[in-house]
Amino acid sequence: MKREDYYQWAERAARWGSDYLETLEDRPVRAQTEPGEIAAMLPASPPEQAVDMETIFSDFERIVPDGMTHWQHPRFFAYFCANAAPVSMIAENLATVMAAQCMLWQTSPAATEIETRMVDWMRQALGLPEGFQGVIQDSATSANVCAILTMRERALDWQGNDSGMAGEKQLRVYASPETHSSIDKSIRIAGIGQQHLVKVPTDGAWALDADLLHQAIEADRAAGFLPAGVVLCVGGTSIGATDNLRRTIEVAKQHDLYVHVDAAWAGSAMICPELRELWDGVEGADSIVFNPHKWLGAQFDCSIQFLANPESQVRTLSIRPDYLQTLGQSEVTNYSEWTIPLGRRFRALKLWFLLRAHGLEGLRERIRSHISWAEEAAAAIAQLDDFHIVTDCHLALFTFQYAPHGENPNDATEGLLRAVNDDGRIYLTQTTHEGQFVIRFQVGQFDCRRQDVMMAVDVLRELAV
Ligand code: PLP
Repeated sequence: MKREDYYQWAERAARWGSDYLETLEDRPVRAQTEPGEIAAMLPASPPEQAVDMETIFSDFERIVPDGMTHWQHPRFFAYFCANAAPVSMIAENLATVMAAQCMLWQTSPAATEIETRMVDWMRQALGLPEGFQGVIQDSATSANVCAILTMRERALDWQGNDSGMAGEKQLRVYASPETHSSIDKSIRIAGIGQQHLVKVPTDGAWALDADLLHQAIEADRAAGFLPAGVVLCVGGTSIGATDNLRRTIEVAKQHDLYVHVDAAWAGSAMICPELRELWDGVEGADSIVFNPHKWLGAQFDCSIQFLANPESQVRTLSIRPDYLQTLGQSEVTNYSEWTIPLGRRFRALKLWFLLRAHGLEGLRERIRSHISWAEEAAAAIAQLDDFHIVTDCHLALFTFQYAPHGENPNDATEGLLRAVNDDGRIYLTQTTHEGQFVIRFQVGQFDCRRQDVMMAVDVLRELAV
């Protein structure tokens, strides 16, 4: 394609995108393809000669959309949403056209300075105290890895990066079993070893038990381990479990441990002041992550990590070879020194567009509606024959089981889930809670309406036979 043809094809792509969004709700939410079906439509070898754009575009239309699960579908109730408010798509297109590479201030000054300002806007929006700074990452997983590496280096007095961990005391990190698997992955990547992520049991409300945390740290010290940090969750992935931050941070600080809070999903809801009691005490954390791409509406991917004092993380991750030296290094922020990859996308642009186009009040209204519709759906499902709610709404997430008389509830629930997703009108996914197979139901898609949520209840009633 020639550069002169850019406008023609961009216009065609925009028209296709607009039609797609317009007709999205007529499509099945989850892709209905079989494994290998899409690959079979592609030639096994790359083309030697250029293919004309008309053919490329029509192959896209023929092959791709039906092979996709539609995350922006208003009846997407699975996992957590990966949202994309239309305004953030526009910003993403602009960033793509500039092909911005934002590794250093001087490689994209506007990107760095807008990022600094957007992180601070979000700090204020979430009610975090002044002094917290932050950085935009691709994913909560990346932020979690950074936080665990920082815990490791801080505990080893910054010797791990240099001399490795052989000969050092064995590190220990503490979290509840409700924390996301990306914490396990981070522990492995950091070389701490899975068995040294201590899963401290939870109390009756699935929150990490602070007394047991205290005992575990003391026992580990006595046994010669080196406790490094605690990971707390606000809105865990499985059922939305939330730790008591104030109490557990108090215990962690008593033992001089680094604290990272994973609020990847629930963090967006903290723009609503009345919900902030959920993370009461969060200001005591050293690091906090939340994903504006999950519930706030910023186009995937966009994850903010707040840091009470960035120095520890920068000391852990920064490296300055000669070819990356810049003039005035001390006066500017080079965000690649705060994270793992060197190259960085211009993610702040979509946040800037999103926050201005909707305003915090507009975004709050959506989140409040999602929570109230989730509560309404849970109440309606509880009334259906043979259904029962297993965990109540944590914000906009609840779980339920289908247990018809004489059938194994786990098998019946799994069978229902399969029927629902093959049907395609709605999309739900599962988790295991206290040994039971349960269906998760979360409301959070940006354009979801009450009628979409209520339709999900109808679909469940109809397919539960
Ligand atoms: N933490 C929590 C609580 C999550 O729910 C998730 C994903 O759902 C993650 C971390 C991982 O998020 P990401 O896909 O941004 O790495």
